[in-house]
Amino acid sequence: MGHNKEAHPESHFRVPAIVNALEKLELSPKFRGSNVIELETFKSASLDDIASVHTRAYVSGLEKAMDEASQQGIIFIEGSGPTYATVDTFQESLVAAGAGISLIDSVVAQSKISKSPPIGFALIRPPGHHAIPKGPMGFCVFGNIAIAARYAQRVHGLKRVFIIDFDVHHGNGTNDAFYEDPDIFFLSTHQDGSYPGTGKFDEVGHGDGEGTTLNLPLPGGSGDAAMRAIFDEIIVPCAQRFKPDIILVSAGYDAHVLDPLASLQFTTGTYYMLASNIQQLAKDVCGGRCVFFLEGGYNLDSLSYSVADSFRAFLGEPSLASEFDNPAFLHEEPSTRVRQAIQRVKQVHSL
Ligand SMILES: [Zn+2]
Repeated sequence: MGHNKEAHPESHFRVPAIVNALEKLELSPKFRGSNVIELETFKSASLDDIASVHTRAYVSGLEKAMDEASQQGIIFIEGSGPTYATVDTFQESLVAAGAGISLIDSVVAQSKISKSPPIGFALIRPPGHHAIPKGPMGFCVFGNIAIAARYAQRVHGLKRVFIIDFDVHHGNGTNDAFYEDPDIFFLSTHQDGSYPGTGKFDEVGHGDGEGTTLNLPLPGGSGDAAMRAIFDEIIVPCAQRFKPDIILVSAGYDAHVLDPLASLQFTTGTYYMLASNIQQLAKDVCGGRCVFFLEGGYNLDSLSYSVADSFRAFLGEPSLASEFDNPAFLHEEPSTRVRQAIQRVKQVHSL
């Protein structure tokens, strides 16, 4: 709650909005007993956990910057573009990354006793997928999902990690962390030309990691139909071919049609479909082991209802999207250009 800047879209109102929606829609542990488990006690990530992805110089530099933040209130971290920090940012970012790690532990433990373990969902911030190894970037401080991927490998022996990033922006930090790593497949869909401008078709990994990075930039206006086709034609065959031990998801809700920061046309129903299909995919390819990480999503209503409908998907309950989605906000998807993008990525990756 201390990592906050007045009127900034990545604000401390985001997680409480989601938690309130989960309460209101009776999706919290209070209403669901053991079907929805909240992890209440977990450790902050250690500096070694963070250093599995980030440079020690960045981590110690950020810790030192907290002194300056305590005097000035808000600071902007050098070289980071629009990433703010407050006096609480360092500690709270360790808590966020630690929550993701704890969910890995919990889901892995459950997967040893059940073929359909619960899906983990890290309702955390600051988000992580833009943070690069040597610094913060784009509202992101530590690469929560990248840190969790390294942890899953190191501590649980889950060697092969499949990361799906459906945030509207390119997950450049995760992309960079694993660009030469053949054991971590990074698949990102994002709006072509949106921040930070990376994630082109020909960014496919390098060296031993060539072919285990897949970037799919989508034309503005792409929406539900585009994402359904991409799931069936790109995500499923890539995961089946890669044979992961766990699936991690950079779940950004800023591709929603109502989100103020971009112009794709996902709906609550699109997020329900993604949650349901990814859960099934995890059951099919990796014993159901799957953890979602909150990334973007800046319209508090579309963010919180989309996460809540994702929870309904995980619980095997029908979507409530028709109550939240207003078809009047939607216009026709650029289906020809979407088809061209899908064909191009299939060609690049021999799918
Ligand atoms: Zn985003």
